[in-house]
Amino acid sequence: MFTPVTGRTVLVTGGTKGIGKGIAGVFARAGANVVVVGRDRERGEGTAEELGAAYVSADVGRAEDCERMAAEAVERFGGIDVLCANAGVFPDAKLEDMTEADIDAIFATNVKGTMLSVKACLAELERSGHGRVILTSSITGPITGYPGWSHYGATKAAQLGFLRTAAIELAAKGITINAVMPGNIETEGLDELGPEYRQKMESSIPQRKLGKVEDIGYAALFFASDEAAYITGQTIVVDGGQVLPESMMALEAV
Ligand code: NAP
Repeated sequence: MFTPVTGRTVLVTGGTKGIGKGIAGVFARAGANVVVVGRDRERGEGTAEELGAAYVSADVGRAEDCERMAAEAVERFGGIDVLCANAGVFPDAKLEDMTEADIDAIFATNVKGTMLSVKACLAELERSGHGRVILTSSITGPITGYPGWSHYGATKAAQLGFLRTAAIELAAKGITINAVMPGNIETEGLDELGPEYRQKMESSIPQRKLGKVEDIGYAALFFASDEAAYITGQTIVVDGGQVLPESMMALEAV
């Protein structure tokens, strides 16, 4: 039996849509106080209303925004128990076309944004006595590759490099930090890649379907639980078996 997260305060960056909204919804339905963070105010306020959450407008690539987001969560709910550092972008560019600005922009949100979010919430996570950080990484980068996403893959692998040293530092503060590595999950962002991408992707997954945002939310909820207190610096792949086949032939054989 898992101890309920009722009354705990959970900050979800990128919680205004997609996977982050799924994570926020899972925690909200579990009785947590949820704060969703994103840059688009209209969307953020709409999501917050839908989920019964609070909304803070912030760009995680900016230190002052991250500090304000943490301060507003504390002002609203009195502390922070769980940070889901989920905000991320995935524009595509082949290496020969990629500009320096493309590389800076994706690292600013996915890597710097992850680190600044964690840093801004540290004191409150320590004060909670059972602080939890859950990163949203990806299979792309740490395990797999995909043409057009070399910069993206680099950022998702970088998050895991950060995770392993942060886990050692944060252990002394009673905080765990772990990462969920999603495969292909049904989101508005993924929809923008078009129906052909979706169809081909489904056929390369052993379960023959994309994941749901809640699938990532439940993995995050597990890492946030009291029962996961002795797990830190670890990752969990949530991908319907996508990384398993060693070739397309392995899938065609069933
Ligand atoms: P999404 O639908 O495009 O949503 C991204 C969220 O992040 C939005 O709430 C967005 O809000 C926010 N965001 C983006 N840049 C931000 C910034 N600089 N500061 C604050 N918020 C920011 O994307 P998603 O598919 O849910 O992806 C979420 C995370 O999952 C990412 O880290 C991504 O790498 C990872 N992931 C996704 C998949 C997938 O299949 N979808 C697979 C593996 C990993 P605003 O635009 O309003 O700021």
